[in-house]
Amino acid sequence: MADLTDAFGRRVEYLRLSVTDRCDLRCSYCMPKGFTDFEEPDDWLTFDEIERLIGAFARIGVRRVRITGGEPLVRTGIPELVRRLARLPGVEDLSLSTNGTHLARAAAALKAAGLGRVNVSLDSLDPERYTAITGGGRLRRVLEGLDAAKAEGLEPVKLNMVVMAGVNEDEVPAMVEFCLARGFTLRLIETMPVGAAGLAASGRYVDLQAVRARLAERYELLPALMSGGGPARYVQVAGTPLKIGFITPISQHFCATCNRVRLGADGTLYLCLGHEDSVPLRPLLRGGASEAALEEALRAAIAMKPERHEFREKPSQIVRFMSMTGG
Ligand code: SAM
Repeated sequence: MADLTDAFGRRVEYLRLSVTDRCDLRCSYCMPKGFTDFEEPDDWLTFDEIERLIGAFARIGVRRVRITGGEPLVRTGIPELVRRLARLPGVEDLSLSTNGTHLARAAAALKAAGLGRVNVSLDSLDPERYTAITGGGRLRRVLEGLDAAKAEGLEPVKLNMVVMAGVNEDEVPAMVEFCLARGFTLRLIETMPVGAAGLAASGRYVDLQAVRARLAERYELLPALMSGGGPARYVQVAGTPLKIGFITPISQHFCATCNRVRLGADGTLYLCLGHEDSVPLRPLLRGGASEAALEEALRAAIAMKPERHEFREKPSQIVRFMSMTGG
């Protein structure tokens, strides 16, 4: 099997594929309130174009694909896209990041189409707080979505919680207990200064090393590994199946082992979440490039992947939103 390696010797085998920059929620740290300046659907890659591009990526070394957005389930036909991507040779791990609001109705079709597993964003278990953080979301729908994902076997179900001071930091123990009771995996995330909303949320930044230390007073935490290929460092709560992941781009960045790139809904390839470096792939797809030319362009793009983000040094560098890049 081919290996795709960047200029720093890192093997790039993970692609985050944004299928839309639209979202039905307005999480305070992600998208500004009232934001509507979305990409036009004509600018989005079609399913045929996505299939061709992911096929090329898989031929040269990408093994894991995560469908994301915006909210991927607001784009119609995602089970059909899953079906196409799941059968591509080389794609070994196909997963989806979602806010969960449409998961209850979609879970069975996603599973039948060949989706492996889901990550669901959930920052609070308090209905009012959840609505406030998400700019109008309803907690009940996400809880129903989580139950459906579990019932369909889209496992492991991982919960993503962005921990914010004065907003939901006090809920970390409740989230641990919730995940213990339901058999979910918990991933705690530090706020990143991506876009204006992310920059504003950085004022609520919580160092997860401290959260981990507080959890260690309550639970015996053992080092653990977890499949997924992402940046989380995991621990396991002794005597239970619960794994807790810490995603610490700020307090302990993981750029040296970064194995990923991101594809925007319009076919722009982003090489690092913390840099504006990008390569537009749509012109190649729509300009009749051969398969060989496409593979060559992908290799050349990966060779440009920056060494590391500079969120600490230049926190206001990234003006695009997380929903554009595909979080
Ligand atoms: N809508 C899907 C979801 O909710 O998971 C997929 C896209 S969302 C942008 C992906 C992840 O990025 C979510 O877990 C979200 O919490 C996280 N995220 C967005 N903005 C962030 C920020 N400024 N800092 C840290 N995480 C962020």
